[in-house]
Amino acid sequence: MLNLIFTLMTLPYAPDALEPVISRQTIEFHYGKHLQTYVDNLNKLVAGTEFETMPLEEIVCKSQGGIFNNAGQILNHNLYFGQFKKVESGESRVESNAPTGALLDAINRDFGSFEAFKAEFEQKGVTLFGSGWVWLSADKDGKLVITQETNANNPITKGLKPLLTMDVWEHAYYIDYQNRRAAHLQALWQIINWEEIERRFAK
Ligand code: MN
Repeated sequence: MLNLIFTLMTLPYAPDALEPVISRQTIEFHYGKHLQTYVDNLNKLVAGTEFETMPLEEIVCKSQGGIFNNAGQILNHNLYFGQFKKVESGESRVESNAPTGALLDAINRDFGSFEAFKAEFEQKGVTLFGSGWVWLSADKDGKLVITQETNANNPITKGLKPLLTMDVWEHAYYIDYQNRRAAHLQALWQIINWEEIERRFAK
């Protein structure tokens, strides 16, 4: 019997809560189909192996091939879908949705300003060739860095603590934005749950 160790994460919002930034249809495919498939695949691949009892983070640091790809994509998507919140109404929602406290201080220190940080993050997302993820992470000294990771990679394999990510696989945006990756990335700032990012930074 297949040991169902890994399960589909629960979304912390309704499937249509992120509209119009991310449509309900994209959530149904991206979360309901793509992520579910990674979970199903990993459960099949780890059955009877040493990876069966490991947390995702450890699997990602110790595995290769299909197990790495599926575990990495589950870890990446859990962080991705866990970082959003319902879009707020109002013209100033982009400007008003921003980090505070120690995280904002670190962003100002390491990137100059929140605006400069967002510009660099978007630029790294737009210029990532092919499928992958752009990440904000903290190093062991608490310094913030932006990295591009291809395919299923996660910054924890470099000893970094992942805080925020944007998925630039085409399945993340093609239904809503077609080829306009830059427009998709720019829109995502409206729905970032900065309280969650601050929790990850403080942890
Ligand atoms: Mn994805």
